[in-house]
Amino acid sequence: MKTYPSIFNDVIGPVMRGPSSSHCAASIRIGRMCRDLMDGDIQEVYVEFDPNGSLATTHKGQGSDMGLFGGFLGWEAYEERLPEYLIAIEEAGIQVKIDIHPIGATHPNTYKLTLSNRKESRELTAISTGGGMIEILEIDGAQVSMAGDFYQTLVYVSSPGSIIEFIETSMPCDDIALRTGKSTFIEIKANQFLTAEICAELLQMEEVLFIKKINPVLPVMSRKDLEVPFITCEEMLAFNADKNHALWELAVDYESMRGNISRAEVFEKMRSIVQIMQNSIDLGLKGTKYADRILGPQSLGFQKQLEDKKLVEGDILNQVILYTSAMMEVKSSMGVVVAAPTAGSCGALPGAIIGIGRGLALHEDELVKAMLAAGIIGVFIAAHATFAAEVGGCMAECGSGSGMAAAGIVELKKGTLDQSLGAASMALQSSLGMICDMIADRVEAPCLNRNVMAATNAISCANMALSDYNHLIPLDEVVETMKKVGDAIPNTLRCTGLGGLAITKTAKKIEAMLNQQEQEANKTFFKVC
Ligand code: SF4
Repeated sequence: MKTYPSIFNDVIGPVMRGPSSSHCAASIRIGRMCRDLMDGDIQEVYVEFDPNGSLATTHKGQGSDMGLFGGFLGWEAYEERLPEYLIAIEEAGIQVKIDIHPIGATHPNTYKLTLSNRKESRELTAISTGGGMIEILEIDGAQVSMAGDFYQTLVYVSSPGSIIEFIETSMPCDDIALRTGKSTFIEIKANQFLTAEICAELLQMEEVLFIKKINPVLPVMSRKDLEVPFITCEEMLAFNADKNHALWELAVDYESMRGNISRAEVFEKMRSIVQIMQNSIDLGLKGTKYADRILGPQSLGFQKQLEDKKLVEGDILNQVILYTSAMMEVKSSMGVVVAAPTAGSCGALPGAIIGIGRGLALHEDELVKAMLAAGIIGVFIAAHATFAAEVGGCMAECGSGSGMAAAGIVELKKGTLDQSLGAASMALQSSLGMICDMIADRVEAPCLNRNVMAATNAISCANMALSDYNHLIPLDEVVETMKKVGDAIPNTLRCTGLGGLAITKTAKKIEAMLNQQEQEANKTFFKVC
């Protein structure tokens, strides 16, 4: 079934805690879907990661274990107890074993899971595709494609008989398909589960064995025959030929059609996201604390130097650096952030938009418009490149955040549509090939300075665009190039911790020290082979 990115699903969101959206938020969604598949009763989980993937080296430090275990417990991505996931999973009596061995995974973020309880054992393979997005690829050896954007009913059968016809005539569904692997089941995607009455009738049929219900995990649902007004920048300009809409209005045009929600609802949803971002920055400015962390609250020192007028002048630029840092520090201390476009790059976009918006004393509506403008740039990236550092390096995370922020800043300054697109193009051009080499498997360094670079690059590119600098390469072609450049970045420099700064002598020392601290805290109770 054809689907398209949603600003709120794929680009600006989820609202979450933890260092990485492609690890914490994605794995919590996978874990929640596993829990539903097991009817809320999980006793044992066998997790397999491929040694050639990113998860083999990052599953613990970047929070995949935390998210996955939280999902098994039915938690949300912003759950306060997430840092206590090991205690909670033990108290829940769920035994987890993690093995790292070849599983033939073709995606770097592949989870192969075997879930058991007293009654049954089920298998599920899923991938995290970046920014908290997921896809379930297999259930019980049968190929599926579930992104968590439908209510999914699985009717397990001994043989399909005429069950599909019965369901088709019983209620409107978006998709009904027979899936065959180690088990045979009929997968039904709809905007609600099969009703209790229909399920009762099905269970009377001798071919029907049992029924499973998997809840959606995304905020914006999909549907059959989903359409969007455009999916490239070129198509957007053609769509706008007789409208003369600003970029933020085009974002509303897109998202209201994508999500089947009103224009006002799109605007207000973005307002609530902007408010969460503002709260997170304000929290970060007060200073943050968290034990399992490399850097302390760097932003406090910056704030002091700024107040004492000891920094190179540039009030708004410095405010953006401060806000970006504060947001990153909230993330690193397990506070609530919005992945925008990812948790690792959650600082640049809000740091720039809110820093400039407050610096210029703009009304909140202007921040919402800027964030919408940034969101539609992110849609093009999500549709034609990636936000996953495991696939496209830091270019995919901070580079994308920079391109999105640049377009939003032009919107704040009431620039033209062409200037917004030019700013995004230049900011992305400046970010091509940026590697991901986080230190000690924590999404803190060089992530903090990369976010600051992304935010300040966005300001430079917005100002260049507002002065009509010629960006030469159209945005669509830059996004296509991001995809090709990402494919050319070696695996060691794509969020595996196997290259770049991550393998410097100092980084290795930091890593050893953190591991030592962790062992002393005796936090590890599950076996990693
Ligand atoms: S280096 Fe960039 S891509 Fe890698 S974890 Fe840090 S912010 Fe994310």
